[in-house]
Amino acid sequence: MSESKDFLRTIVEEDLQSGKYQEIITRFPPEPNGFPHIGHAKSICINFGIARDYHGHCNLRMDDTNPTTEDMKYVEALKDAVTWLGFSWADHVRFASDYFPKIYDYAVTLVKMGKAYVDSLNEEEIREYRGTIKEAGRRSPFAERSIEENLDLLDRMRKGEFKDGEHVLRAKIDMSAANMKMRDPLLYRIRHAHHFRTGDEWCIYPMYDFAHCLSDYIEGVTHSICTLEFENNRDIYDWVLDALDLTPPRPYQHEFARLGMNYTVMSKRKLLELVNGNYVNGWDDPRLPTIAGYKRRGYTPEAILNFCDQIGIAKANSMVDVAQLEFCIRDDLNQKVPRVMCVLDPLKVTIENYDGEEAIDASYYPHDVPKEGSRKLPFAREIYIERDDFMENPPADYYRLTPKQSVRLKHAYILTCKEVIKDTHGNIVELKAEYHPHSKSGEDTSGIKTKSAIHWVSAKHAKQAEVRLYERLYSNEAPDGLEDLNPDSLHVITNAFVEPAVITEKPDVRFQFERQGYFFVDPIDYTDAKPVFNKIVGLKDSWAKKTEAKEATPKSKAKKTPIVEGEVTPMSETEQALFTKYTKELGLNNEIANILARDVDLAHFYEETLLHVNSPVSLANIVANEVARELKLVATLKFSAKEIAELVTMVDEGTISTKIAKQVFEEMAKTGDNPKAIVAAKGLTQISDPAKLKPMIEEVIAKNPDNVAKYKAGNTNLFGFFVGQVLKKSGGKANPTVVNELVAEKLKNG
Ligand code: ATP
Ligand code: MG
Repeated sequence: MSESKDFLRTIVEEDLQSGKYQEIITRFPPEPNGFPHIGHAKSICINFGIARDYHGHCNLRMDDTNPTTEDMKYVEALKDAVTWLGFSWADHVRFASDYFPKIYDYAVTLVKMGKAYVDSLNEEEIREYRGTIKEAGRRSPFAERSIEENLDLLDRMRKGEFKDGEHVLRAKIDMSAANMKMRDPLLYRIRHAHHFRTGDEWCIYPMYDFAHCLSDYIEGVTHSICTLEFENNRDIYDWVLDALDLTPPRPYQHEFARLGMNYTVMSKRKLLELVNGNYVNGWDDPRLPTIAGYKRRGYTPEAILNFCDQIGIAKANSMVDVAQLEFCIRDDLNQKVPRVMCVLDPLKVTIENYDGEEAIDASYYPHDVPKEGSRKLPFAREIYIERDDFMENPPADYYRLTPKQSVRLKHAYILTCKEVIKDTHGNIVELKAEYHPHSKSGEDTSGIKTKSAIHWVSAKHAKQAEVRLYERLYSNEAPDGLEDLNPDSLHVITNAFVEPAVITEKPDVRFQFERQGYFFVDPIDYTDAKPVFNKIVGLKDSWAKKTEAKEATPKSKAKKTPIVEGEVTPMSETEQALFTKYTKELGLNNEIANILARDVDLAHFYEETLLHVNSPVSLANIVANEVARELKLVATLKFSAKEIAELVTMVDEGTISTKIAKQVFEEMAKTGDNPKAIVAAKGLTQISDPAKLKPMIEEVIAKNPDNVAKYKAGNTNLFGFFVGQVLKKSGGKANPTVVNELVAEKLKNG
């Protein structure tokens, strides 16, 4: 258990002490409509972690109440993720669909109590009758139906006598409740759809708000822990359980902040788009923030658990730097994995004064790691070194091999370059060199000074391997969409050479390739004939450095959203009213609405932008993100609300892409210039004209004949690559939709 107690554990302890519950029961309740991601890992750690710490248990329950999007393969992925993270659920996996009969019975009970009714308004009328945040709603005329009539209709809904949308079952609560969710919420809807578990048994399905609390109650859950966006649903949760007058004890809902991480997306919907659009290679693509992706890439469960522990549990939404996760995996592997040598970009070196072969005893771990072990490292006349470890005309601070500067071969001898051999184009193809017989590592009596040691492999003994290098999936810290995908997120090297000790028959093996980073035997594609390694993470501890730098400059420190432990302050009445207005009337998502509603300055600014252009969602995004960040940094903004409205209008009208808009915003913030002027001066107008885009596409196609051939041979995954290259070529100015169409056309017709 972590040292400091978080607010959830505080609640749990109080509830145990007061005798409210005898045993702590939690649950992890995913909807099986996608693979779980690192955000789910946080939820898994919280729910299973609390159950473990207080000797209770945690259920794994599929929230499978939406028949159209769910699938067994997602159930398997969820089970796998929980197990891999080292947790186990109580007995079998549960399914909300197993409770459909019971949940239906509860609905009948509510109807009999006069607390629920069958409504026959259509969707639009229901919305209209609900009212607004300023105005109370009106109750549907159908709410006056008698209990008998309601029972009869509900029964016939269940039997399939009605079409989708013809009737719904609603709770009879309060049409003027301040919390709009309490205005007679829907409990059941008709859905003639095949369910992956219950088949065609049901044609009515309970809504989340009805199914979730009851599933919790049925399982004897004590603490129903969910993310902040369900804050407003808590009232219904309580109402349903109270209205039914159930035998105690009953569960209570508690909310925590969801995990957000930069340089990636974290919603199943967006991940599904990447997978289905072949922008990545399946759900377990090592670039994705899915558990399956991290697992395949070579992350350890320990690293992810540590990360979840570090980020803590709080009540304020925060954005975590992905570098913190990278730090955790590096930290875990640093002491654990053997250090070996692999040359990624080989340059042949012939050691002219060396004949024969020897096997050098080379330790796997440096002195400061409390682990032992070594391998026999073959040394011979021909070796490969890294191409950039040699320079013919080096700058002054270059410490590696040059015609005038010797270098140490790690674990072996000192090497001096004698001759540089080039091809007809002037490219270096080989070095002739000499070694110093008395310079062997650990027994060096040569007296020769070197400034660095480089890695190498014996050409004859090394094995050719494929190495997959990964960069961040998005080039933008807060990606908006496909146009922010980093076109260079995957780099495949097919001609790397590894020393023999790296060849393994065991799966699940990790290495540090000296000076390169940490690598993992690809669990799917690795074969004896073709070893494949995934780069897990580089060696550099960039996060720690960045954090130090941030702390040194107070200005950028302000930028970082603090991770606050403890309860969030409840919203004031005004804030709550704004929040509801933003979510209900303007259609903002809860997170954005929460940011705006809780900050008077921001909310004012936002409302002012709205006076200029009616684009509430786009405006809210830029105000809650960019403007908010800027406000924290400077006392007075250099731009006006009107200018922000102008910027958003340019995006809405397709004059500039959202990516370019960010660039323009930076400029506005810096110089106070007008956005239109910036776009004109810098020539940033979005390019949608096919005549301008086609030459770029042709160039990209011409430059990548191999990928074109692979694409045509059936590797359609490469489509995203081509689109990305074109977007990059245009400096982010190309209209992604048009590029998509043109690339598709070009690849089809040649
Ligand atoms: P997404 O929005 O990514 O599709 P979701 O919330 O719809 O996720 P569910 O399958 O409903 O996903 O979530 C299962 C559990 O995981 C829920 O309790 C949910 O609150 C939690 N969860 C989902 N995303 C995150 C996150 N980013 N951080 C913390 N917990 C999360
Ligand atoms: Mg969801």
